[in-house]
Amino acid sequence: MKAVKVVAVAAAGFPVVVLGLVLAGAGVGASDPAGGSVVSGLNVAAMPAAGRKYAPWYIKASESVAGECPTLSPALLAAQGYQESGFNPTIEGPPTGSGTAKGIAQFIDSTWATWGRDENGDGRADVFDPADAIMAQARYMCSMVKKASRSGYGGDPVHLALAGYNAGWGWVDYYKGVPPERFAKGQTYHYVRIITSTAAKWGTALGGPLSTEGWTRPVAGPLGTAYHETGANWVSGYHTGVDFTVPVGTTVRAAGPGTVVKAGVGVSYGNEIVIRHDDGVYSQYAHLSSISVSEGQKVKGGQKVGLSGATGNVTGPHLHFEIRTGPGYGSDISPVPYLRKRGVTM
Ligand SMILES: [Zn+2]
Repeated sequence: MKAVKVVAVAAAGFPVVVLGLVLAGAGVGASDPAGGSVVSGLNVAAMPAAGRKYAPWYIKASESVAGECPTLSPALLAAQGYQESGFNPTIEGPPTGSGTAKGIAQFIDSTWATWGRDENGDGRADVFDPADAIMAQARYMCSMVKKASRSGYGGDPVHLALAGYNAGWGWVDYYKGVPPERFAKGQTYHYVRIITSTAAKWGTALGGPLSTEGWTRPVAGPLGTAYHETGANWVSGYHTGVDFTVPVGTTVRAAGPGTVVKAGVGVSYGNEIVIRHDDGVYSQYAHLSSISVSEGQKVKGGQKVGLSGATGNVTGPHLHFEIRTGPGYGSDISPVPYLRKRGVTM
């Protein structure tokens, strides 16, 4: 791929906060659903080699805003970083009317002054330090996702936030949405399109970003024991859910939006959570090491609800996950087809 210079566009009223560089196409390698380097919603093996060493910071950045902005997945932030700088932490864009875009997340000085912080304890907030810049990118994006959610404009709040990051939020206000393709030679329009499609590829192995219905894989790990597998381990004689193989302490997320109807200890399930969803279907998360929601709480899809563990009747750490037609044991249906119906890639 090659980098192309962006043409700064002067138009009525608002300054265009132009990113320094746009890559000519996503240039993503094939995703690797079975890949071994799959962590926390980011399929590292699918990323270009230059970006892989920054994966832990994209994961950390996503987790740091997950409470307020669960839709900002590590894959989305990484795809944005790639589009901004090609994962080059020392890059500087051409000077524009509103400043020079700097670093892996292409902050201009005025925006950096608001969002930049020292994140890796080296004593300075450095726009050219990828750790500082990636964490600031997530905070700045989250501020715009929240603004987008409040705005009443049409479209996905993450798309609106991306447009705001690229063009400046003033242009999102001006168009009451993602600026159309005729704006800035299509730069903002295509910026949003390319990043979301790249993020879908990089998050694929884990369900990464939310589906259009707001659903996701509940944990960043591969499927283990399947639904309806038979065996003496189970009271019913068969497995009433699916298992995701993950170490103790992995973030567990609500598979979809709903209300927590149970958050506590179940007999053989250890610490468990049950969520009721809008269609009257329930999801259950079992053997958790900790629970971070309470009964009656409303949750969004992708919101952290606890950490995986090995509590209750288990042979090792994993997340046991069920989809049910009622809140209790015995009303299970097959989880994977249900998640697929909700748009989750499994
Ligand atoms: Zn299980």
